[in-house]
Amino acid sequence: MSTATQTFEFRAEVQQLLNILVHSLYTDREIFLREIVSNASDAINRMQFELLTNKDVLDPEAEPAIHISFDKDAKTITVSDNGIGMNHDEMIENLGTIAHSGASSFLNALKEKGSGSTDIIGQFGVGFYSVFMVADKVSVTSRSYRLDETAYTWTSDGSNAYTIEPAEKTTRGTDIVIHVKEDADEFLNDYRLKNIIKKHSNYVAFPIYIGETVANAQTAIWRRTPREVTEDEYKEFYQQLTYDFEKPLVTIHQVSDAPVQFYSLLFIPSKLDRGIFQQDHQGGPQLYARKVLIQQHSKDLLPDWMRFIHGVVDSEDLPLNISRETVQSNRLMQRLKQTLTGKVITELNNLSEKDPDKFLTLWNEFGRLIKEGIVTDASSKDRLAGLVRFHSSTQEGWVTLKDYIGRMIEGQSEIYYLFGDDLKSLQRSPHLEPFKARGIEVLLLNETIDSFMVNSLPEYDGKKLHNAADADLSLPDAKKDENAPPEEDPLVENVLNSLLNRIETVLGDKVAAVRESKVLTTSPARLVSSDKGFGADMERVYKALGQEYEAPKRILEINPRHPLIHNLSSLTDETLASEVVEALYGSAMLDEGIHPNPADMVPLMQKLMLAATKH
Ligand code: ADP
Ligand code: MG
Repeated sequence: MSTATQTFEFRAEVQQLLNILVHSLYTDREIFLREIVSNASDAINRMQFELLTNKDVLDPEAEPAIHISFDKDAKTITVSDNGIGMNHDEMIENLGTIAHSGASSFLNALKEKGSGSTDIIGQFGVGFYSVFMVADKVSVTSRSYRLDETAYTWTSDGSNAYTIEPAEKTTRGTDIVIHVKEDADEFLNDYRLKNIIKKHSNYVAFPIYIGETVANAQTAIWRRTPREVTEDEYKEFYQQLTYDFEKPLVTIHQVSDAPVQFYSLLFIPSKLDRGIFQQDHQGGPQLYARKVLIQQHSKDLLPDWMRFIHGVVDSEDLPLNISRETVQSNRLMQRLKQTLTGKVITELNNLSEKDPDKFLTLWNEFGRLIKEGIVTDASSKDRLAGLVRFHSSTQEGWVTLKDYIGRMIEGQSEIYYLFGDDLKSLQRSPHLEPFKARGIEVLLLNETIDSFMVNSLPEYDGKKLHNAADADLSLPDAKKDENAPPEEDPLVENVLNSLLNRIETVLGDKVAAVRESKVLTTSPARLVSSDKGFGADMERVYKALGQEYEAPKRILEINPRHPLIHNLSSLTDETLASEVVEALYGSAMLDEGIHPNPADMVPLMQKLMLAATKH
């Protein structure tokens, strides 16, 4: 490597970013220390990880620590760590020209949210540069842990370029010397620095020395006894972990000794989508094995549908030689996953029973993921089913399956549900008529995932779930409603049969059959599925997925007591009769949400209006 000083240009977006950081940002400046300390902590973590399998490194016995000192006269703050260090090329890569695609996304976020939001800079992978909010010059002297490397110093004043030159440093790690700007000398103060560490870096796992004293709490919060941790401490830790401004909706802290020893601290955020502030879309808790961070986002600790959960899991039982690759196949990991998953579901059930309002908040954000859990996580689905909130044909607001069962009428043995595009059209679906007539409640489903969900949930608490639109339902007898207007007599058999034939002739092979309905009360007609496997719900799914499908033919059911059907049976104008039949069939398709082209109804309606207004 060269022995002279080399000069490099920053990447264009970084130049732009630096320009803003150096010249125009005066709020949140203290977070520079959090970013520098967080990098130091990452570097130590990576070193610990390397040491698990490789002792052939510089200073293998060094105690992991971060040291902060300042010099009032020289106007410098120095942050040192004995982490993994950087060699010449890593400095270029990590601090200058190559990496940092995050710079432009951060600039966009600033534009959108205003300059008050520098606080989020760490999420964009450009946290290091925040130091230029307080510095007019920074030098980074680093020596890699690899035995064959030497030390270098990286220096920049935050303008367009930086230099790299060989340095004298015999120990492993990185020293960052921050030359503090004129207007930032408030940071050259012991008390101030300690406060910033307490506020932003209290839970960093390694000791942070300021002078002789350790300034951070350091004992990992998740290793403490749950009842001794205050809500504020949880909140603070959560915010440091996720950059979420809001407090977590649910905190689940568990310390367990058997069958697996572990500490876990899991959080459910208050929002699924935190928009622009949520750069890091990856879910999954951090995994520590014996205090060493093994994975930043473990995918193996919780089922995929719980990807909205953040936190930390730390186990003494995981073997130290576990690597990122072998984590998955480890038997202990599977036990851990089972236990954690069970615990989260227990907490969700507790919340659902003890604090239904808060649970509803959670349901509104994460309900869809819980449904996904029912579909994808066979071992949990039975415990999740009780959490699901449904709309109902007879109740305002949300209901649960348990509520539903409590309201089942005498003689009713199944749970009924109906799919539709939206609640309004579901509420006036002709399929509800036989249920209304009998006082039976129907659950109303209007999300795409719902049809997958009920597929995975053939029964609940011993009661089968049944689609209310199925052709063959066996319902208890309808009660006679004393106040109902007297019904029209049904059409006599031969009149009805010839009408059914006429309708069949008009519709041809658009329908599988035309038959009399035994259950309709107020609608003239409805469509029912002839094929159980492919109902209107699946058709809706295909449509939502934008996939080609061949709609299977339906059975058109006719209500022989309806005045429209009566009139139709005696209509002599053949052309008009055919148009009425087409309109009847078209509106039945609209009711089902399966009309391929609703606009086709317009010319038909106009023809009928013309006939109706003729004199
Ligand atoms: P991020 O930490 O999100 O990667 P930063 O801008 O904070 O982004 O840091 C950029 C990179 O610089 C780090 O990923 C790391 O590779 C390197 N780096 C920064 N500080 C140190 C340090 N103290 N020791 C080793 N590497 C460091
Ligand atoms: Mg960083």
